[in-house]
Amino acid sequence: MDKLAIVVPCYNEEEVLKLASEALRDVLADLVQKGKIAGDSFILFVNDGSKDRTWELIEEEHAAYPVQVSGVKLAGNVGHQFALTAGLITAKDMCDVTISIDADLQDDVAVIEEMIDKFHEGNDIVYGVRRERKTDTFFKRTTAQAFYRLMGLMGVKTVYNHADFRLMSRRAVEEFSKYRETNLFLRGMMPLIGYQTDNVYYDRKERAAGESKYPLKKMLALAFNGISSFSVKPISLILGLGLLIIFCSVLALIYALLSYFTGHVVPGWTSLILSIWFLGGLQLLAIGLVGQYIGKIYIEVKQRPRYNIEKILHKGNNSDEERTTADEE
Ligand code: UDP
Ligand code: MG
Repeated sequence: MDKLAIVVPCYNEEEVLKLASEALRDVLADLVQKGKIAGDSFILFVNDGSKDRTWELIEEEHAAYPVQVSGVKLAGNVGHQFALTAGLITAKDMCDVTISIDADLQDDVAVIEEMIDKFHEGNDIVYGVRRERKTDTFFKRTTAQAFYRLMGLMGVKTVYNHADFRLMSRRAVEEFSKYRETNLFLRGMMPLIGYQTDNVYYDRKERAAGESKYPLKKMLALAFNGISSFSVKPISLILGLGLLIIFCSVLALIYALLSYFTGHVVPGWTSLILSIWFLGGLQLLAIGLVGQYIGKIYIEVKQRPRYNIEKILHKGNNSDEERTTADEE
């Protein structure tokens, strides 16, 4: 029987944690009862350096349900993508299959069963895909759609309308853990792993409690990271733009020479000043973009550990003591 670990990154989720734990425990109990997963399947809450009582609540849940609820405490806030990675890599040695889901219960826990079925059909990755975005604001919906389109144009393979609600087999996580990059964009990395994959569809709900931990700033950062971590197209765009502008300036030069030899007055300084500003701006833009890549190289070559697990609460088959580790993974 396959042992399932449900990995839940949590940042300041005290309002919703107990609800999430209850809902997910119900799902586990149901699946165990139907004989689809092993009896010691569990939920792994990853506390991403929360400033509220999230970790205390995870400890309470673990005390009350030692088999079903485990916890990982990261030493500080590393962000959703890293927290999830920490959870998945920690979970992979304790289980046969993982499912990642947000703590806020926006993703429909009812399709977890369908994911497990698809896993048993031989899929190594099963993507949870949102059917509609009714519950999102108009702004979030349009920006998200523009983002997926832009990603496509930039040549990054992603699963449309899939966030990080996803089943991964143990060997898929194993493979994923070999990707050593620090600029993480999980959605873009999963298709690179390969293996047989499938989708399940669901409607995304409102947050069960609390408010979004993804303000516009973090969303934009995620989008930019997604594109710049996977594509060098922006650089070729700069090249193309540069060529175009050189071509235009040659035309302008010819025009200037012609007007000079035909005795016309030299054009006023307006056009001159405009072109100085335009080119100046363009150069700054180009340098800035190139700089982004250099910045990434800089960060990658440092090879810093991507997270730091402070404590693991887990009651497995053979051990029920707390593990305390200070190292990555
Ligand atoms: N999250 C995290 N670290 C952060 C920000 C968010 O672990 O720095 C978690 C959060 O607790 C939640 C998930 O990432 O489980 C998604 O965040 P949220 O629901 O706020 O994002 P939204 O659904 O609004 O895009
Ligand atoms: Mg959410």
